This record gives sequence, structure tokens and C-alpha cells, in this order.
Amino acid sequence: MHHHLDASAVARALSPDEPVILNRPHAAERAARFFATKFPGKSLYAVKANPSPDLLPILWAGGITHYDVASIAEVRLVRGVLPNATLCFMHPVKTASAIREAYFVHGVRTFSLDTREELEKIVAATADEAGNPAADLRLCVRLRVSSEYSELSLASKFGIDLADAGPLLQETRQVADWLGVCFHVGSQAMTPFAYVQALERVRAAIADAGVVIDMIDVGGGFPSVYPGMEPPPLEDYFAIIHRHFEALPIAYNAELWCEPGRALCAEYNSLIVKVEKRRGKELYINDGAYGALYDAAHVAWRFPVRILNDARSEVLEDFAFYGPTCDDADYMEGPFQLPADIKAGDFIEIGMLGAYGAAMRTAFNGFGQGESVIVTDEPMASLYTGERKDPRVSDNVVSLR
Ligand SMILES: *Cc1c(COP(=O)(O)O)cnc(C)c1O
Repeated sequence: MHHHLDASAVARALSPDEPVILNRPHAAERAARFFATKFPGKSLYAVKANPSPDLLPILWAGGITHYDVASIAEVRLVRGVLPNATLCFMHPVKTASAIREAYFVHGVRTFSLDTREELEKIVAATADEAGNPAADLRLCVRLRVSSEYSELSLASKFGIDLADAGPLLQETRQVADWLGVCFHVGSQAMTPFAYVQALERVRAAIADAGVVIDMIDVGGGFPSVYPGMEPPPLEDYFAIIHRHFEALPIAYNAELWCEPGRALCAEYNSLIVKVEKRRGKELYINDGAYGALYDAAHVAWRFPVRILNDARSEVLEDFAFYGPTCDDADYMEGPFQLPADIKAGDFIEIGMLGAYGAAMRTAFNGFGQGESVIVTDEPMASLYTGERKDPRVSDNVVSLR
């Protein structure tokens, strides 16, 4: 892969007609090292946030040894790239064949579940040829928790209700060598309090079940930084989670885990797009809802932008984007602040696209091609450089939509 200084250098060198993904390995490794050294437990990388085979070894180098995988394809991918990684199959609805291959071929021992049917499926799929049940299963019961403090909800699809969790924890304890409780507070949790209310629910479930718990997994949801979304420092999240974990009625040697996706990879990618046409305050660009800008279109996520052409006005105005496909839904309302005199042929860098951006590209309507290059400058924003003002002492507004 080619190395360049920054997006402007790429635009000058390639004048690209197709969108170009920029990789920043140093930023991803820095995020990995931050979680590996500062989170008071084990950090798993949630692979779905960005499954790029070039990213996985970078996170490994940064100290991430455990990977949260959700499909047999992700199991095979990570095992192929990182033969010594510990894989945890954390999707609560799996096929029997996926469980069997994960357990017998790829050495997976940790599985999550949120129903009795899934528990029975895991036990049956991991039994040996004589029908003896596996003795080394590490099972995590996924509890449903509120997403009220997060920008993207994950509260309705997975997780057992507190009222039903006790019996499932008891049944799982009987077949598990090691029993955990996991949850997900929703993505981009804008306050550490999201984890406090979830851990209170965990406490109630454990009290109800009266079983020994070996592990608490607080899931993902750790935020990154975007326009209008300036979270408190991650150290605050870690400290509050640790305090509430320590107060739970669990085994004295119980482990604390987390599964960050977004926070580990958001800073890894940005994107260069070309303006194909301008219509008033609308720019027609060459990537969009079916490319790396899925969230910009589907949940009106705002990403930071900057122009890459010199000699444009310093006056900024609000623009919306249209993507390249023929679908009306290929529209991103932003607003994206760019020079008032931006015009067709100009190049824009769109930042903070490493999480749920680069991973979402499709080939719909013949688009979705384009190359990747490495750049060595800093991402447009970072939670890890130590340069960010603490939003609690600045005028930044924490959005709690
Ligand atoms: C998506 C997902 C994650 C990662 O969530 P982020 O909000 O990106 O940190 C972690 N765990 C599970 C089970 C997930 O589905």
C-alpha cells in the first residue's frame, strides 16, 4: 500500500476519480494501546465495526488479544489473520454448524446467548461424537439494558429481560465451566452513566439467580468524537465501570471485559471524495449511502469535513451531500461546513470513518470501487492524543438526543 503525508498530498498525486480510503495505522494502534493499558480488565475488539484484514494486525500489535466475532465468516477471517488470537462468538443467535466449526476447528470456547434454545443449541453442537457435553464452555448470558444514553440503540433486538434472566443464568451455570453476564448499552454512549444503569441491572439479575459469576462484559458503546458529539474522557468511563464492577456480588477472581468497536477503529480511516456537481447548497459527491457514508445517510451522522484544494474562500457555509447512486435515499443532510465557493472538481476529506464507514461499502449501482492508501498525519479528531479539551470545562455541548 502506498504511503502519503496527508489527504492533500493524495489528492495532488492521484487526482482520484474514485473515492480513496485513507488508513492511519498509527491512530488505530494508539487506540488499541490505550484500551489495552488503561481499561481495568480485558478489551475485545468488536470486529464488525471494521473487519479490514489490514487493521487486525495493527490492533494485535497494540495489545488487543481477544476478538468479538459475530459470524462464522468473521471467525474464519480473524483466525486466518491472527492465528493466536482468542475468539469470542458474541452473537446471541447462531447456527449449529457455525458453533460446531467455531468450537472444533477454530478453538472458540466463549459464546453468548439470550435464550434457553440457544443454550441447548450450543451444548448440542459442542458435544463430542459419543454425545458427551463439552467441559470447557465459557458462556455469557446477554442481558437487555436501556440504550437511553446512546446515539444508536441496541436495546430492542438482543438480550433477555431482567425478569427472565434468573432461570437462564441458573441453567447456563449447570453446563458452563465459566459463566459471564454481558450487555450492550448502544453505540456512541455519550455518558459513563449508561454503564452504571446497566451494571445495576446486572446486579439485580445476579441476586435473582444466586449463582457464581466469573466474568462481567460491559460490551461496546465507547464513543468517538464527531461534530456536535464531544464525549467526556474515556478514563471517566473506565473509572466508573471499575467502581461499579468491584461492588457486584461476583466471584473474588471475576474478570471484567469490554468489547469496543467504534472507539478502537473510528480514527483509522478517512475518505477522499470528489465533488461532481454543485446545485446551490447541495454537493453531488462520488460516495454515499451505499458506500462508506452509510451512517451519514441513514442516521444523519455528522462527520468532520475539509476541502483539499488551495485558494478557496475562508467563509464556510452549510452543505448537504448527494451520493453517486440513482436512489433518492442516497442523501446526507449534514450539515457539512465547507468553503462558500466550493465547486465541481474539488476534493473533500471526510474524517472519522473507520467505524461503520469503510466496513459498509457495497457495489450497488456499480459504485464502491476505489483504492486504499496509508497516510501519516493525525486524524481530524482524536480521543487519544491528549490534546483534546475536556468538554466538561469547555462550552461544548454534549448531545443527548
Ligand atoms: C456492535 C457490537 C459491539 C461494538 O459496539 P461499539 O458501539 O462499536 O463499541 C460490541 N459488542 C457487541 C455484541 C456488538 O454487537
